[in-house]
Amino acid sequence: MAPPPRFFARLALTENLTPLVRRLVFSREDALPMAFTPGQWVNIFLPIPGADAPLRRAYSIASSPRADGTFELAVTRVSGGAGSTFLHELSLGSVLNAEGPQGFFSRSQSATSPTLFVATGTGFTPLRSMLLAAVEAGSTSPVHLILGARHEEDLLYRAELESLTRACPWFSLTLTLSQGSASWAGPRGYVQTHVTTALAGLTPHGPPHVYACGLQRMVSVVRELVRKDLGFPREQMHSERFD
Ligand SMILES: Cc1cc2nc3c(=O)[nH]c(=O)nc-3n(C[C@H](O)[C@H](O)[C@H](O)COP(=O)(O)OP(=O)(O)OC[C@H]3O[C@@H](n4cnc5c(N)ncnc54)[C@H](O)[C@@H]3O)c2cc1C
Repeated sequence: MAPPPRFFARLALTENLTPLVRRLVFSREDALPMAFTPGQWVNIFLPIPGADAPLRRAYSIASSPRADGTFELAVTRVSGGAGSTFLHELSLGSVLNAEGPQGFFSRSQSATSPTLFVATGTGFTPLRSMLLAAVEAGSTSPVHLILGARHEEDLLYRAELESLTRACPWFSLTLTLSQGSASWAGPRGYVQTHVTTALAGLTPHGPPHVYACGLQRMVSVVRELVRKDLGFPREQMHSERFD
């Protein structure tokens, strides 16, 4: 199989989404459209000063496919992590080498099955791409998202998600905090606490598909719950791990 294409991408916009997560919008230097299937990721080559060779790190694409050659990443700053620290400090206009798209964690834009998305932190990035693509395709198939974070200020894309729940009757949302302050009136606990109830709400619309993304510990617990405890067949459970 041919390796995924390599291209150069220039940092066109960068800002903090939360205290630990930075949004980076890149623009392809070759001006080609950024063609990919929502859920796919790219490798970015990071020229860390002092390293023998560029560090290669994978990042899921957080935007939906765009014709203008731009694509968006959301990167968690990992304590002591060379790659994520480099990207958090990257200056506007910097050009990096990238490779992709690649990966099989995807949802068809014409999917009609009711769908449950489960994510913690930047695990939401590929699911955001799938969600925006569904909105752009005019989909009306039910989608519920369970997004978890420790604290309220760590919730990614909160304003955008709350606005989507108002604009799209088919989309619903559970924002859950594992360490919410006393003033948090919303759901609490780990994402997996809310999976069974969310699936019960989707099942009347047909057999739901579940997409879980984030760190391995959470993804394994959700897979186990959905496949073993709830008895979902393999083809209805999709997952991507970042570690
Ligand atoms: C398919 C794929 C898609 C990915 N997409 C994203 C993405 O959209 N956004 C993103 O921030 N990261 C993403 N990652 C993780 C990313 O590739 C790096 O692992 C991460 O940025 C840490 O790299 P580092 O060099 O800073 O730290 P390293 O020293 O390489 O890693 C240190 C440790 O950080 C932990 N870690 C990795 N990712 C995260 C995270 N998101 N949050 C908290 N801890 C983490 C792991 O346990 C790892 O062992 C993805 C990984 C894969 C395999």
